[in-house]
Order: sequence, then structure tokens, then C-alpha cells
Amino acid sequence: MKESLLSFSLEKIKNLIVEEFGEKPFRAGQIFSRLHLGEEFFEMTALSNDLREKLTEKYSALPVKIIKTLKSTDGTEKFLFLLEDGNVVEGVLMRYKHGSSLCISTQVGCRMGCAFCASGLNGLVRNLSAGEILGEVICVNKYLGGGLGEKRKVINLVLMGSGEPLDNYDNVVEFLRLVSFKDGINISPRNISLSTSGLVPKMKRLAEENLSVNLTVSLHSPFDEERKKIMPVAKKYSIKEILEACKHYFDRTGRRYIFEYVLIKGENDRREHAEELIKLLKGRPCHVNLIRLNEVKENDLKGGTEKEAYQFLGLLERGGLSATVRRKMGEDIEGACGQLRQKYIEQTKED
Ligand code: SAH
Ligand code: SF4
Repeated sequence: MKESLLSFSLEKIKNLIVEEFGEKPFRAGQIFSRLHLGEEFFEMTALSNDLREKLTEKYSALPVKIIKTLKSTDGTEKFLFLLEDGNVVEGVLMRYKHGSSLCISTQVGCRMGCAFCASGLNGLVRNLSAGEILGEVICVNKYLGGGLGEKRKVINLVLMGSGEPLDNYDNVVEFLRLVSFKDGINISPRNISLSTSGLVPKMKRLAEENLSVNLTVSLHSPFDEERKKIMPVAKKYSIKEILEACKHYFDRTGRRYIFEYVLIKGENDRREHAEELIKLLKGRPCHVNLIRLNEVKENDLKGGTEKEAYQFLGLLERGGLSATVRRKMGEDIEGACGQLRQKYIEQTKED
């Protein structure tokens, strides 16, 4: 597989074309913006034929293609992205009046193995490069007719598709710098949320990157012992350590953090769970996002009703927490993390 030039910063492209191809430095800006618009090298007609050929020989431009789109009745749209080695990842687009929010993947599969999640079913296949993660955003921005900077159509990003972003730390941080770069799509880190299952040392490192993205942590239980049963990563890092890392993130960035809590019927949705959450989180600059489980056929875990979710929410709110129930979206299009990819893999096996 050729390396994608989309993984390169403007500075790195500049060095490359000057030193390797003997070009003038200003060409780098042209290449950078054309790449971020989703163009292939042959489309970059401002460049000489010779340069276009040389670039094509050694590098790829856009390393991601949309191969399938599914529209939900609620307006959510799901994308299946094909990578150059034949692997696929998925993304979900939510359209709002003021612009669109896109959920993207950071790895093919995931090694964390959470009990309720379809992405971790076959473990980790590989990390996505910075250019591949950026490629997902560029493909969808282009699909929506968007351009760079003010002309972008994707205005919010969530790193909540398949993969554990902090398990692919360097590429994800490089991606965050590229997608928020002033000459590119330029999505502000304030409009980007990164969700992690709680890799404490990496959360601390992220606080030092001067990036100020919104940090979201998948908690799913206020009890370490129960958390270990549904999230193997909990055997490594305790809730206490996670809370310390969140505090550190807030102290460094001033950003309020969010806890994701997938309600699993009979497992983590009882009164004692709400009470313990209140004890743990009250007074902290955080918000709790309750998510009703999207049931996947590979396990027996069940989600509760909408009414039960709102009852749990009521307990948290009366206890003084800021919380919401996340609207369930795209259920009819394999809405849960990793479900569409899993279906695609099964179908291609059958063919
Ligand atoms: N690996 C990161 C980000 C990707 S998962 C993380 O775990 O935070 C993004 C969110 O989707 C997580 O909060 C995860 O718990 C949730 N999720 C996974 N499978 C789900 C399912 N079947 N139903 C509802 N939410 C799910
Ligand atoms: Fe990985 Fe997140 Fe799925 Fe857990 S929930 S297996 S960390 S993608």
C-alpha cells in the first residue's frame, strides 16, 4: 500500500517536493488544499504532468472511498468506507440545520473487547493512518458539496466509530492537527469530541497536546468489579484513576468532560447504579450521556425501554447531575458502532 500524502502536514509536503522533486515551495500549498478537497493527483491540473506522475508513482492522494451509503428514516446517514487494502470502516452523519456532525472510525476493529460492542468482535485488524481518518472526513465533506474553511459542510466531528482512538494515539493526534489546520477543512477542536474507553496514561498525555478537544469517557458502570465484566480494559485502570485523569484534563484545558453510559437491562441500570454515579460525579464539571443499548445479534445483552432510560435520567438529575438521554438514531440502518461493518464482512464471506 502506498503512503497517503494526506497524512502529511503542509510543512512536510513542502520539504518533500523541494528536496525530492526539486519543485518550488509554493506548490506545496496548492497540493495541500487540493488534497483536502478530496482530489486525486491527476485532477490537480495546476501541477505539471511530470510532478503529477511522480506523486502518483510514490503516494496515494485520497486513501478512502465511500462504497455504500444508507439513509435512515430519521435522516441519519451511514457510510461504509473502503480502504486501499480492502478493509472497511464506517461513519455516521447526522444532519442539522446549522451543519452536519460526522462520527468516524479510528481503527479497523478494536482490541478492547467490550461485551456489548460489535467493533471489538474480531479484535483489532489495524490502526488507521492519520490520512485515512482524515480521508473519511474529506469524502463526506465532498459528498455534501463542502469546501475548505468557511465552505466546509461537516462542522462537528465525533471519534466514536470503530476503534479506540487513544490506542492509535500518534495517528489520531496527527489527524486532529490536520483537520483543524487553518488551510484545510479547519474544524475547530472545540467542535471535535474524542471518546475513549478510559486509557488513563493516554488521557493524561492528550491533556498536554494543546488541542482542547472535548473528552468523552465510556464509563458504563460506577462499580469497578461490574465494569471489568463488560469492559476488559477496566482491569487495567480503575474508575478512581479515570476520574483523576479527567480532572487533570479539565485543569489543563478548561473543557468540561462527558461520560457515556450505555444502559444495559438488568446489568447497570438499577437504582444503586444511579446512586453511586451521583456519589462519584456530583460537583464535577461533567455531563452524563445515557445511551440505550443497540442490541447486536452476537450477544444476549438487552437494552431497556425509553421510559426506563428517562427514569434513570430522573434519578441522576434529582441527585444533582447534568445528564441527557441520547436520541436513538439510525436504528434501522445498523446504527450501533461496528454493526454495519460486521454485516458487510458476513455478506462478503457468503458471496
Ligand atoms: N472506543 C471508544 C470510541 C468508540 S465506541 C469508546 O469505547 O469510547 C463509541 C461509543 O459507542 C462508546 O461509548 C461505546 O460504549 C458505544 N457503544 C458500543 N457498542 C454499542 C451498542 N451496541 N449500543 C450502544 N452504544 C454502543
Ligand atoms: Fe472498542 Fe469502544 Fe467498542 Fe469498546 S466500545 S470494543 S473500546 S470501540
